[in-house]
Amino acid sequence: MDLYEYQGKQFFASYGIPVSPGEAVTTVDDAVAAAEKIGYPVVVKAQVQVGGRGKAGGIKLAHDASEVATHAGNILGMDIKGHTVEIVWVELASDIAEEYYASFTLDRSAKQHLGMLSAQGGVEIEAVAETDPDAIAKIWIDPVEGLTDAAARAWVAAAHLNPAATEGTVDILGKLYRAYTEGDADLAEINPLILKPTGEVHALDAKVTLDDNSVFRHPEYAPYEATQVRDDREQAAHDKGLQYVGLDGFVGVIANGAGLAMSTVDIVNQAGGKPANFLDIGGGANADVMAGALEVITNDPNVRSIFINIFGGITKGDEVAKGIITAMGRVKITVPIVLRLDGTNADEGRALLEPHLSDMLQLKPTMVEAAEAVVAAAGAGK
Ligand code: GDP
Ligand code: MN
Repeated sequence: MDLYEYQGKQFFASYGIPVSPGEAVTTVDDAVAAAEKIGYPVVVKAQVQVGGRGKAGGIKLAHDASEVATHAGNILGMDIKGHTVEIVWVELASDIAEEYYASFTLDRSAKQHLGMLSAQGGVEIEAVAETDPDAIAKIWIDPVEGLTDAAARAWVAAAHLNPAATEGTVDILGKLYRAYTEGDADLAEINPLILKPTGEVHALDAKVTLDDNSVFRHPEYAPYEATQVRDDREQAAHDKGLQYVGLDGFVGVIANGAGLAMSTVDIVNQAGGKPANFLDIGGGANADVMAGALEVITNDPNVRSIFINIFGGITKGDEVAKGIITAMGRVKITVPIVLRLDGTNADEGRALLEPHLSDMLQLKPTMVEAAEAVVAAAGAGK
């Protein structure tokens, strides 16, 4: 789950990383009240989970209440790259001497944590990577060893920051690493990390992605969960406990297992179709789960056909078949379904389905044939 900047800053602050005092608000009046409390000048910042807010006009400096009212009024409701601003963060403005970049993320292929630090902050790191890759100092960290103070110092030296920033940056990187690892983050990024004219180092922005699978051991993440934005389809799927990601095509996809679901999305594309979603029903192909999955998919008006791709392992084919038959009785389905059923007890499952087969429920022997049939049933394909 991605955090808003203000949540990222709360997260950072809980690990002792210096951030500016501020308040998240949803109305102009509350923005002014917050600024009056914080003291001027303040920065009014749009809270959307997308970068480049500054360029889009979503970050404004305000010196008094009337400027706060003007800026908050303009920013609330603003559209930034397709995201409507519903929250603004009002924080005490900082004087900036220099802007740096710092982040930790996981390098999956190296099986290590990757830290990136650059004296060229404030701009997107992808741009720096393209124009001046040597300006990014990288460090790979063995998760068992962790980030030692000596390694952090050598890393900071390699990034050629202003020497005045060394101590503050070493301190923040240690805390950021702790936040990233103990907080179960997939990404913890500060851009810009600023050096103030007074010599202090400070996080001016926060981009944090937390591992959704760790939420169970972080009850403190409940407020972050509560503000997650999902489209209607994703919300309905989430409420049913389904692993669903909305896409913009027209072939509904149901598969058991994330790997098979991804392959199904791929093969629909290959057959000339466009998947409407990714949906992994996991091991639970029973009637309840199947009915829930079909409900979510048929509620999507773009769906013109549905591909159910099941490979039985622990999940038995005959149980899957019963689940589908029961679910079809419960959910009104108006688009054709194409099914591929293989693996454990597939023959028993196919036999159960036999009397129910029609143009509206087709059974194909292979994944490729099923993909072609489901795309054709949607009126597309080669
Ligand atoms: P982003 O554009 O979405 O990444 O938003 P940031 O929070 O990174 O802000 C973008 C830029 O606005 C920063 O790089 C700064 O140059 C500027 N900015 C943000 N907050 C302040 C502040 O308190 N003081 C000053 N002087 N500039 C700020
Ligand atoms: Mn930024």
